[in-house]
Amino acid sequence: MFQQEIDEKAKTLKLWVRRKRGNRKLVCSGCGRKLLEPHDVTEREVRDLPCFEYRTTVVIELYRVRCPDCGLKIEKVEQLPSKAPFSKRFEEAVGEACESASARRVAKQFGMAESTVRAIDLRYLERWNAERKKPPLRHLGVDEIFLGKTTKFVTVVSNLESGEPLWFGRERKKETLDEFFRTQLSARQRRRIEAACVDMWEPFKSSIQEWSPNCAIVYDKFHIMQHANKAVDEVRRAEFFRKGGRMRDVVKGKRWLLLTRWVHLTADKRQQLNQLFALNRKVMKAYLLKESLERLWTYTYEGAMLRYLKSWTLQLRWQRLPAFEKLAHMLVDHLEGILNYCRVKVRFGVVEAINGNIKTLLRRGRGYKNLCYLLLKAQRMAVTKTEFVAFRKAA
Ligand SMILES: [Zn+2]
Repeated sequence: MFQQEIDEKAKTLKLWVRRKRGNRKLVCSGCGRKLLEPHDVTEREVRDLPCFEYRTTVVIELYRVRCPDCGLKIEKVEQLPSKAPFSKRFEEAVGEACESASARRVAKQFGMAESTVRAIDLRYLERWNAERKKPPLRHLGVDEIFLGKTTKFVTVVSNLESGEPLWFGRERKKETLDEFFRTQLSARQRRRIEAACVDMWEPFKSSIQEWSPNCAIVYDKFHIMQHANKAVDEVRRAEFFRKGGRMRDVVKGKRWLLLTRWVHLTADKRQQLNQLFALNRKVMKAYLLKESLERLWTYTYEGAMLRYLKSWTLQLRWQRLPAFEKLAHMLVDHLEGILNYCRVKVRFGVVEAINGNIKTLLRRGRGYKNLCYLLLKAQRMAVTKTEFVAFRKAA
């Protein structure tokens, strides 16, 4: 340090730093080539970690090199990872703060624009992602998530063993998943996939069969129960809303009660559901059918699982519940994939947890225009286990 400037009023500190050259080699920031001689000297001003209560900037002397490949370039310096006017440790402090707080709050804390905070956070995550070792992909998860009116549906591909999302794709067509296989995996990596947990959705199935033919398709509990919940909701609407008036008031606000498992309801909420059931037998039957379908995954032997599914389907006779008849047909049509649960041991609940994490991020971040940023955020979250809320609930 050879010069300093303190502004007591504005609480700013500016330091001039000269680095010792010694006989170290200079590195071209364009290509990484090592060079012996500097071309000239220049200066860069970057924001660094605060000194006491002073907002601190550092002016660093830097060499420029004349690289045979890149021409006149600034030397590469470890502490200055990008062209942005921030030191590496400052960016790290901002990135770390962003792990547990919203960009808006971090912006306030550091006295910067929110967009700047997001840009720093993105670089912080990109550096982390470039350096880390990525686990092999043996169990694949595919899910779709609704990102709001503009982006609509996004397909989320994840690694079920490591519990992290791997890729986001627009829409949920066969082409979407095709793009993942084509651009993200080598032929060898595709062959190594043993199982895939997906929803009963033809486009995904045909994409997997095309790109990874030896991979077992498993229709997981999470997705099947989503369909069961939809069926319950259909019955609720058919039974109460068409009747209008008084009945409609009784059922108002009860939707989520019907979609919640009995074990997760308090005595008070159970009472409310019982009142609803007293009014309508069909809604009660639908709820019980959904609850009993959940037991399907307590079986680990194919024969037992199949027997249970058959007896479940038989209960639908004479019930006049078209939504559940449709569901039963769907289950029978996808039988192999359901029974695969007994043949391939995949971690269930992971897709659900990742889904929950992304939703938390979206709520906190008020929309991510940059899907790469959202993906990195969700990956970091999964790896550091910052917010595996759904996981804890499932356990
Ligand atoms: Zn170069």
